[in-house]
Amino acid sequence: MKNKISCTFNWEPLTYPQFILKLSFICLIFFTTFQAATAQEYFQQEVNYQINVTLNDRLHELNASETIEYTNNSPNTLQVLYFHLWPNGYIDNSTELAKQLFSIKGKQKLFDDQELRGYIDSLDFKVDGLAVLWNLLPVQPDICQIILNKPLLPGNSITITTPFHVKIPKGVTSRLGHIGESYQISQWYPKPAVYDPSGWHQMSNQDQGEFYSEFGSFDVSITLPSNYIVGATGNLQNTEEAEMLDQLASDTTWTAGSEKDSFPPSSTQMKTLRYTENQIHDFAWFADKRFHVLKGKVKLPESGREVSTWVLFTNQQAELWKNAIPNLNHALWYFSKWNGDYPYQSFTAVQSALSAGDGMEYPGITVIGLAKDAYGLDEVIAHEVGHSWYYSALGSNERRYPFMDEGITSANEVRYMRERYPQKKLWETNVRNLKLAKFFHIDQMPVKLMRELEWLSQARDNLEQPINLTADDYNTLNYSLMIYNKAGTGFNYLRAYLGDSIYDVSMHEYFQKWKFKHPQPDDLQRVFESTTSKDLSWFFGDFIATTKRMDYKVVGFANQKVLIKNKGELISPLVISGMIGDSICFEKWVDGFKAQQWIDIPSGNYSEVKIDPRHVAPEIYRLNNNIRTTGFFPKADPISTQLYFSLEDPEKRHLMYIPALNWTRENGLMIGAAIHNGFLTPKPIEYFVMPFYAFHNSDLAGFGRISYHITPYDKLIRKAKISLEGTQFGALGNQNYRKIKAGLELYFRSSLKNNSITQKAYGNLIAASSLFQITHQEKATMSNYLQFGYQLEKTGNVNPYNLLVSSESGKSFMKTSTEFNYRLSYYGKKRGLDIRLFAGTMLKKDPAVPFYSLSASGRSGSEQYLYEGTFPDRFSAFPTSFWSRQMNFSEGGLVSPVNSQLGYSNWLVSLSFTSNLPGKISRIPIKPFVNLLLNDHGIGTGHNSPFFYEAGLKAGLWNFFEIYIPLVVSGNIQSINGSFKDRIRLVFNLDTFSQVKLNSGIGFEIK
Ligand SMILES: [Zn+2]
Repeated sequence: MKNKISCTFNWEPLTYPQFILKLSFICLIFFTTFQAATAQEYFQQEVNYQINVTLNDRLHELNASETIEYTNNSPNTLQVLYFHLWPNGYIDNSTELAKQLFSIKGKQKLFDDQELRGYIDSLDFKVDGLAVLWNLLPVQPDICQIILNKPLLPGNSITITTPFHVKIPKGVTSRLGHIGESYQISQWYPKPAVYDPSGWHQMSNQDQGEFYSEFGSFDVSITLPSNYIVGATGNLQNTEEAEMLDQLASDTTWTAGSEKDSFPPSSTQMKTLRYTENQIHDFAWFADKRFHVLKGKVKLPESGREVSTWVLFTNQQAELWKNAIPNLNHALWYFSKWNGDYPYQSFTAVQSALSAGDGMEYPGITVIGLAKDAYGLDEVIAHEVGHSWYYSALGSNERRYPFMDEGITSANEVRYMRERYPQKKLWETNVRNLKLAKFFHIDQMPVKLMRELEWLSQARDNLEQPINLTADDYNTLNYSLMIYNKAGTGFNYLRAYLGDSIYDVSMHEYFQKWKFKHPQPDDLQRVFESTTSKDLSWFFGDFIATTKRMDYKVVGFANQKVLIKNKGELISPLVISGMIGDSICFEKWVDGFKAQQWIDIPSGNYSEVKIDPRHVAPEIYRLNNNIRTTGFFPKADPISTQLYFSLEDPEKRHLMYIPALNWTRENGLMIGAAIHNGFLTPKPIEYFVMPFYAFHNSDLAGFGRISYHITPYDKLIRKAKISLEGTQFGALGNQNYRKIKAGLELYFRSSLKNNSITQKAYGNLIAASSLFQITHQEKATMSNYLQFGYQLEKTGNVNPYNLLVSSESGKSFMKTSTEFNYRLSYYGKKRGLDIRLFAGTMLKKDPAVPFYSLSASGRSGSEQYLYEGTFPDRFSAFPTSFWSRQMNFSEGGLVSPVNSQLGYSNWLVSLSFTSNLPGKISRIPIKPFVNLLLNDHGIGTGHNSPFFYEAGLKAGLWNFFEIYIPLVVSGNIQSINGSFKDRIRLVFNLDTFSQVKLNSGIGFEIK
């Protein structure tokens, strides 16, 4: 670290009068802070910047000096100021930025790598020309505290100056960086944190989580080699440079190349470009010597003022970008019409390498990464232009309330894209192949349905979080689904309810009242409620601040009235339509209600009455939204049949089927099908049935499961899953083994907001054919088993773990065990040292049926009295055939097949280690493993030791098919499996594909 720390606090022993003085001083600070926290009076500070910066493109450094005029408009006296030094977010792997990137992307070398490391140093703060004491915050090196020499009184201003030097990191981790000599300079200068009526808002640099900054003016001079082209916040002040850019933009002779071109040498001549702007809260700039330049202009719809638009791009995506000016112009025009005229004089879109999302907004400028196609580029440009209102001009605290910028911007973006591409279908942006789309019956789905389906995948599982949380309260998925997706849908729902004109008037009013200020959610609500004269607490209260769900149901229809029941928790407006076929005859909005209500509808010959046919509201279940006006089963829903699987239209019931072939030794070849009701969107009832006809024994075989899911609102239990399973396959003695399982799983609501720790309890009642009788070729009767368990799991990419405490009992036995799996993560997402600790004991044992006791090694098919897994040759004796080597992991976890000689144990403890290979060879799918085990008895002549070990290699694919080769084993194993060939086992686990794990209570694998 190169940071110069001028001073830290110095607590010397104090005399009594000094102590009293200090105490009263502290009380004073406390009192003023308290006053600030309770004061309702709005104020905002003013910060005016003057920055001179020079780019060194050999060393990738900035050398700069900054002069800030800071005005205290608060009613409080300030003793200290907080400054953000966000380049220090890249300083080492202890920063909030690093920790967040680890949790998103897995452990990485990250800022240990000199190229990726960045920082700000050479700081020397002076206030009104005099040196001040300042220090970095202890655990947040990207924030510093400046202790003022004399208090800054309300209404007074100070001038703060400092030189600074920034090492620019390689631009592959977050928002600041360079790729070669292409520069993305954002969050690069010392910047005061916001001080507002609720106090200071000092915050670290984060990847998921944005900004909150003070408004003021910027006067920035950038010095760099003269052949760079620069896009920056603000208005260029150099006439010569402006003429040069105009010249470049008017040059139509260039042709767009597709290859990446190399950087031309930097000119030895330097130029200084000056940019100024008022009433903005940030300044970013982008420099590249390869940029093509295009320029346009747009006349704003309300004032008629002209705004100049620029696009800067390289050859890499020139084919798309050469048409981007109209995109920019359209977006600026529409958003001005809907929200109020764009408040600045120019807007620039820059195409550049970007490591934070698809695009990133700054005042007057946006940077956009690689786009998929013209539609994708238009969408990102529209979104980023939208931030000119909801970020640039309306400076809300985006870290605390990300929905205030991202949610409303997403609503604008969706509205805009619908306006521009009303006929766009989902397959055009996702599958991109009409034949495939037709095959999967998704060719008619509108593009916006994808957002709904993505949201439903989380909402139906009761995994939603309120929209008004802080950015880092969300996991990555929910940040996107709640803040962009659901909040965006919500604002468009509010618009549909209010009508475009009233909604637009409200948004205009909000923009006019709060532009260049710091609005809070309450301010938005107040504006909307006063312009509409409506109580909108259902939206700003329940929809935004809770996870109450919207689910209206049509119950009946008679005499031009529909009976509608509110089955959800959200009491919000709904729209009712009369339909003739697919066409909507009328739309009637009704304010929300509890319980049920008869609602009058206009007369007409509708074939159907439907709630929300245009999908404007966040309705969680649409199957109950309609009723036909004639016929016997007016509420029956269309059934859509589909080969394999498909996206699930929420208005239809789905029946999907997959032809299947199967084989086991006892059944021979089997032909059948898997039939299910879809697995991409969770549903209250889910089924998966897989019946087969078996040719060898001319019998039926197969598997089936049906489950019912209860998802209570805001309770300790997030989801209760009640399931019934049945299995039948051929067994020895020309008979079948059968298994029936009734299960209850309780998933608890995560105590942590980001859901990284989950808890589950389960209980299963199982009846299965007696394996003892089957292996003795006797007619099998059913035996009963009971299982209970509790699981605690930490998910995520860094050091995940899983603890399982379980018990299992039958008529004659009872056992309990604890299993702990922990991954010590290496660099990368899936790599690490996997540690498994297992301890189990028999509470009651059955001497007649030894295999109920704890097994030292993985169980073969013929040892599994609960018939788990897919075993083509379940009853074969080891090692008579290829499939007889198959096992599943359980209990002791030894791989060497020792159960048949060792027998089973009253208690055992085992410890297993598996690791990825080091470095680049870790790509080879081979992992070394070591297993240690201690039980209550040993085995082998002369090796009567209860301690076992084995070490070897496993190779395979995603835990789905794996071969285990124990190479070195302890004497007691050696004495019964002398040849290493006799120790080779395999795991064939179809369950890892369907993610069904742990429902049997015993047996776990880290994936
Ligand atoms: Zn955004």
